[in-house]
Amino acid sequence: MKKDFVVIGLGRFGGSICQELTKLGMNVLAMDKNEDLVDDFSNIVTHAVVGDSTDETVLKSLGIRNFDHVIVAIGNDIQASILTTLMLKELGVKKVTTKALNDYHEKVLRKIGADQVVHPERDMGKRLAHNLVSSNVLDYLELSDEHSIVEISANEVISGHAIGQLDIRARYGINIVAIKRHSNIIISPQADEVIQEGDVLIVIGSDTDINRFEVKMLQS
Ligand code: ATP
Repeated sequence: MKKDFVVIGLGRFGGSICQELTKLGMNVLAMDKNEDLVDDFSNIVTHAVVGDSTDETVLKSLGIRNFDHVIVAIGNDIQASILTTLMLKELGVKKVTTKALNDYHEKVLRKIGADQVVHPERDMGKRLAHNLVSSNVLDYLELSDEHSIVEISANEVISGHAIGQLDIRARYGINIVAIKRHSNIIISPQADEVIQEGDVLIVIGSDTDINRFEVKMLQS
């Protein structure tokens, strides 16, 4: 279903969100106070407007509360990012996602009601670190401060063995919730499921346990 998004701030982060949402067929209203950037995006998104998001009358005149989701992609001006997020929530926007620059910024955003806070540099750094430790780690999704889901491609250490035989749950305290095999997906695989080379395991657990698994099992 087509959804209506607003992206505020057309730097590298906001700009790439605009492009991808448009490619996915969504309606996108892009906004920036920089006229040149707005011009650059006018042919890409559904609408592009010049405006300062810290001005409540500007937000109201856009009918901001009628949009499904607003993304605040303002980077360096933390004050503008916080004020914008606060006004969006006060104006009744259902879903607001805001980019945070640091942990304090993130804390404030959560306190004032941001529905989702993203930290692209930190998250990318974490993903890359996991991939550097083990090239078998394909993706990494943080569930909370302490728990994650990772996608791991099965290497020769674990392929050819049944899940029960590897005893991953007892040894590492993590669970294989699904296996992607070619175009199939096996949800909640049983203990007798034999892992094949090329399988992608979707594993859930605490970061400490997942890290132990990555280091012990996956370094070949
Ligand atoms: P990126 O890393 O995504 O390139 P950045 O860290 O350089 O971003 P900024 O340049 O601070 O972030 O902000 C991104 C965009 O947000 C800029 O194009 C800026 O003009 C715009 N912006 C900042 N404040 C406001 C505001 N109050 N209203 C609308 N746009 C704003």
